[in-house]
Amino acid sequence: MTLLNTENKLLRIAIDGPSGSGKSTVAKLLAKEYGIDYVDTGAMYRAMGLKIHREGIPCEEGNLMDELLASTNIEFNEGRIYLDGEDVSDLIRTQEVSMMASDCSALGSVRKKLATLQQEMGRTKSVVMDGRDICKVVMPDAEHKFFVTASAEERAMRRFKELQEKGQNPVYETILKEINERDYNDMHREVDPLVQAEDAIYVDTTHMNIDEVVKAMKNEIDLRRNR
Ligand code: C5P
Repeated sequence: MTLLNTENKLLRIAIDGPSGSGKSTVAKLLAKEYGIDYVDTGAMYRAMGLKIHREGIPCEEGNLMDELLASTNIEFNEGRIYLDGEDVSDLIRTQEVSMMASDCSALGSVRKKLATLQQEMGRTKSVVMDGRDICKVVMPDAEHKFFVTASAEERAMRRFKELQEKGQNPVYETILKEINERDYNDMHREVDPLVQAEDAIYVDTTHMNIDEVVKAMKNEIDLRRNR
């Protein structure tokens, strides 16, 4: 079904930002608010990283990678992500897979395959999509663009508390180190590094809770929609 906004136009919301900025939580809430689909592009890189790891091939460009990409199927169904038909939604949420995703996301061939799939998902319907290259590469023509971030220390603390709540025994310094490492990789890779698009609204969530962030973004979106 193609969902339309009040003016019968597509409503596409593009959100970029670093790990742990809260962008996925906010993206999901906005999608619910407007009754449109949510596409978690990070989950796609995680699924791809998992596949490369399982196949045991080197994370580098070449024939092996091209063959692997050609034979890989990634799709969403009712909020779950499927890798070659297998529901990997829970499997991809580990720190280990985060690093695999970060590694494989530096490859141009991987980015090309996933960006093409993502563009297809946002071409004909209203959607909220979050990731690192959504505003500039995947949906440069999105009606609404945001760059959501927070200090690395705050993002590490959020992750620390999340793991504690799950009954785990996390080490704050280790989490902070991994966040800094992933930020560095995402911002310094040659292909489509994480940068704020010139036309994206900057949202610093360091001192904001999720409700405040959603409210602020919704205000911006509604203001523009009614112009
Ligand atoms: O958002 P999430 O932390 O799940 O993403 C996992 C990894 O996938 C990121 O660290 C990043 O390297 C990569 N990614 C990307 N481009 C996107 C989404 C995620 O490079 N659009």
